[in-house]
Amino acid sequence: MSMSRRPTPPVLDLLGDLIAFDSVSIRSNRPLIDFAAARLSEWGIAAEILPSPDGEKASLWATIGPPVDGGIVLSGHSDVVPVDGQTWSSDPFKLNIRNGRAYGRGTADMKGFIACVLAAVSTFRHAPLKRPVHIALTYDEEVGCIGAPHLLDWLSRQRPRPAIAFIGEPTSMGVVNAHKGILVARSEITGVEAHSSLAHLGVSAVGLAGRAIALLHAIETELSLTARDDRFEPARATISVNRVGGGTAVNILAGHAWFEWDIRSIPGVDAHAVVDRFAARLEDEIIGPTRQNHPAVHAVTRIIADAPALAPENDGEAEALAKRLLATNETRAVPYAAEAGQFQQAGLSTIIVGPGSIEQAHKADEFVDLDQLARCEDFLARLMATLV
Ligand SMILES: [Zn+2]
Repeated sequence: MSMSRRPTPPVLDLLGDLIAFDSVSIRSNRPLIDFAAARLSEWGIAAEILPSPDGEKASLWATIGPPVDGGIVLSGHSDVVPVDGQTWSSDPFKLNIRNGRAYGRGTADMKGFIACVLAAVSTFRHAPLKRPVHIALTYDEEVGCIGAPHLLDWLSRQRPRPAIAFIGEPTSMGVVNAHKGILVARSEITGVEAHSSLAHLGVSAVGLAGRAIALLHAIETELSLTARDDRFEPARATISVNRVGGGTAVNILAGHAWFEWDIRSIPGVDAHAVVDRFAARLEDEIIGPTRQNHPAVHAVTRIIADAPALAPENDGEAEALAKRLLATNETRAVPYAAEAGQFQQAGLSTIIVGPGSIEQAHKADEFVDLDQLARCEDFLARLMATLV
């Protein structure tokens, strides 16, 4: 049996500071970002603060070590999921340590990782690094990985270029080299209003939406026959429709209807192509024929959020390095979506590795084992040793 250990005091201090920021995605993460930037500045490291398009939130980018290519990005999202409706044993925004665990919203997902990284900076900055370490903090991950693309777009115009990204989602410090993608879409359908006793004069948008949803399910079934990946459970891409609305009264043919849906794709399934196929078939099979009698009928689908799957890399640099640092040959795939696919798409060799378990993420009494934080510190110390 391996001994359970505790992280160093700076990690717990930083974790306490980070948990105290109520950085639920609906609120601004600026206080947390400004705190991290102030810490880095105390250690002589200038952080780049990159505001979101609306200026309400921000990402952070910092470099420790020489300005050369081939650096390692340590990336975490600063936002957390809400606590509404959850019953907590202690204040979710106040770090509470009991039974060898650190409790609080975001301890596992993923402020534990960020605390370890920030604490490590105080050592990294004194090391004669030959390759740099970069810190990336993003926003709005929990609402569809919306923030990372802005950071990555900015990064694509920067020199030097990092080579590797470690995304610190909770993996119990295992190496995760694949995750599913998520694409969220909203479809709006316009019908023609009429009194429901005179149904021949109009067409119900809600009825059309029902047929459109059935079409989505047919496309999901077709996909499941052509693309499978047994590393995932479920081993296929899924499409689910989870919000719907429309109409004004039960005796009026609905003039308008909408539904929101997501595609959870496996590597190799292009979610954009699925949306295009749906839009084309909706037009050909349902909307187009209806329009012959009711010219005003139409449908629009727009993409709200989009994060591609993380695919295992052939001879991936990130995977090889993480396996070496953790002395393991094992890799896993995870069903949830994360920012790793976006970093990979931006050209970085990418894996997920971080302290704590996804089992605890998003739940009441979220926690990270203290031993996990200690193991993350070890991982970062070994990483530093490979960079000097
Ligand atoms: Zn997360």
